[in-house]
Amino acid sequence: MAEYVAPIKDMQFVLKHVVGLDQVNGLPGWEEVTEDVVDAILEEAAKVASEVLSPLNASGDRSGAVCKDGSVTMPAGFRDAYWQYVKAGWGNILAPQQFGGQGLPHLVATPVEEMWGAANLAFKLCPMLTQGAIEAIDSVASEELKRRFLPKMVSGEWTGTMNLTEPQAGSDLSLVRTKAVPGKDGSYRLFGQKIFITYGEHDYTDNIVHMVLARVEGAPEGVKGISLFVVPKVLVNADGTPGARNDVKCASIEHKLGIHASPTAVMIYGEKEGAVGYLVGEANRGLEYMFIMMNAARLSVGLEGVAISERAYQRALAWSRERLQGKPVGGAAGVKTAPIVQHPDVKRMLLTMKSLTEAMRALAYWTSAVLDRSHHHPDEQERRRSQALVDLLVPVVKGWSTENGVQIASLGIQVHGGMGFIEETGAAQHLRDARITTIYEGTTGIQANDLVGRKVGREAGRTAYAVIAEMEALAAQLPDTKNMHLATIADRFSSAVARLKETTQWIVATYGANPAAVASASVYYLELMGITCGGWMMARSALIAARQLESGGGDATFLRGKVLTARFYADHILPRAMGLAMVAMRGADSVLAVEDALL
Ligand SMILES: Cc1cc2nc3c(=O)[nH]c(=O)nc-3n(C[C@H](O)[C@H](O)[C@H](O)COP(=O)(O)OP(=O)(O)OC[C@H]3O[C@@H](n4cnc5c(N)ncnc54)[C@H](O)[C@@H]3O)c2cc1C
Repeated sequence: MAEYVAPIKDMQFVLKHVVGLDQVNGLPGWEEVTEDVVDAILEEAAKVASEVLSPLNASGDRSGAVCKDGSVTMPAGFRDAYWQYVKAGWGNILAPQQFGGQGLPHLVATPVEEMWGAANLAFKLCPMLTQGAIEAIDSVASEELKRRFLPKMVSGEWTGTMNLTEPQAGSDLSLVRTKAVPGKDGSYRLFGQKIFITYGEHDYTDNIVHMVLARVEGAPEGVKGISLFVVPKVLVNADGTPGARNDVKCASIEHKLGIHASPTAVMIYGEKEGAVGYLVGEANRGLEYMFIMMNAARLSVGLEGVAISERAYQRALAWSRERLQGKPVGGAAGVKTAPIVQHPDVKRMLLTMKSLTEAMRALAYWTSAVLDRSHHHPDEQERRRSQALVDLLVPVVKGWSTENGVQIASLGIQVHGGMGFIEETGAAQHLRDARITTIYEGTTGIQANDLVGRKVGREAGRTAYAVIAEMEALAAQLPDTKNMHLATIADRFSSAVARLKETTQWIVATYGANPAAVASASVYYLELMGITCGGWMMARSALIAARQLESGGGDATFLRGKVLTARFYADHILPRAMGLAMVAMRGADSVLAVEDALL
């Protein structure tokens, strides 16, 4: 099938109407982020995604990255693509202007990032991690470290990594053992092993800047004794020139289910004299610093769910228009065989893929705008309000969109029938690639615990209730239009919001006395919140489209599609809220009654 085509019109509709560019271009420094500028960015990015990255997706999957004697060779074409991408300035659209970046809002970077993820997920991970490392250094490192590392990371001449995981420390980073020994010159020597390090080694660039969590000798046990270090692969002299090779090496890379072109490295620090590392910020505050970047990183992984879903949908839709099988139930007389897209059940699968993807996209972009406001709004109260909102929504975007990504990629295979199971159609790669997204940057279980604990339970539901009140206000407006679909959407949406409210009240009431009961069903609550927030976005989208249709403005076919996709979401997806609410509130007993020995 043809390469990935960025859904620019859908993206523009969300940016301009559902979210609104005024969410960010009313903020200081971003006045120039106008519709024209955003359109130009999307159009250029779409070309790179379709013409440069997408054509490497299947070949990268087949050949994968290869490790030999500690060096990693990327699949054919990846290195050239990286340099094309970097030279065109795509690597630094979010990076600080002071160090050569463009400093654009997340709201603008988000659709662009969606395109990279859809075109080639394995490729997208390297710039994403570099951006994370840039943000860490820029937020907390000394001016000296910023000057030494940031210009070349921002230009893309060096890439970055995040080194958290160790064999015994995955979800629980309090178990990190990598050791940092203070040296006489203010630097440290690191000793330890990190596993699963994305782009820990590759052949794109001469240097790689590793952000490493380690424990300074004598530091307290647990999370309060973890510090963050910059550890370059090649040491950098004070004047910026390359120095000696540091004592860090890639021992091997993993053989994985998917994202074969993304090297996942085992990294050894300090096999000889110790890897030279520089402390970022203050000692023992490393985990706190990682949390500063967590929202952006988790949002970015949530967006991978959106990206893969879009790609899987495009492929399934194209197949369903070409594959001829059987006479559709209720089809015209005399038709013996028709494209499978005409079968009601195939249509149902495609609409499930399409409507969920649109709902997830709108929620992710909305959350990006709130993230921008939490950093850039001039009013402190608005910054704080936005921060609380982004804290609530990020685990939902991460957990719900990635779990959906897996389901949607699987539906994409189903639409293909037997050929979906055969690698040559490409549908199977999407499922294999999607599978990691629910695991890295915190598993779905960890996102759900965070949501019910830190984000709802501990603040007695304050932010969740504020969001629910906004949803109720929208539901009340929906039937005001003449469009009959809006009344149905209002009905289904109000019912889902009521279930979300009821379940939130149950969590607030139960969390203090019985946190295990809440934890037993936290994933259901996360899904309930995701589906209802998705419904909120789809209802907004339908209302805007219906009003534009009534006023006679815009592309009527496109707008009718928006209303009908929201109607499908209301009829087929929102009713799931009822079952989720029930199991979230009543499911704990049967989990907690079973002792481990009975499993
Ligand atoms: C391809 C790939 C790339 C990666 N890239 C990076 C990277 O660049 N840098 C990096 O540092 N790490 C990276 N990781 C590691 C990744 O972040 C971890 O795998 C992930 O955080 C889960 O940790 P774990 O594998 O140890 O699983 P575990 O923590 O052992 O979890 C196993 C299961 O137990 C559940 N569980 C664990 N604790 C809890 C809890 N408290 N409550 C409820 N459920 C719980 C989990 O949800 C999961 O279902 C990568 C991993 C892979 C596979």
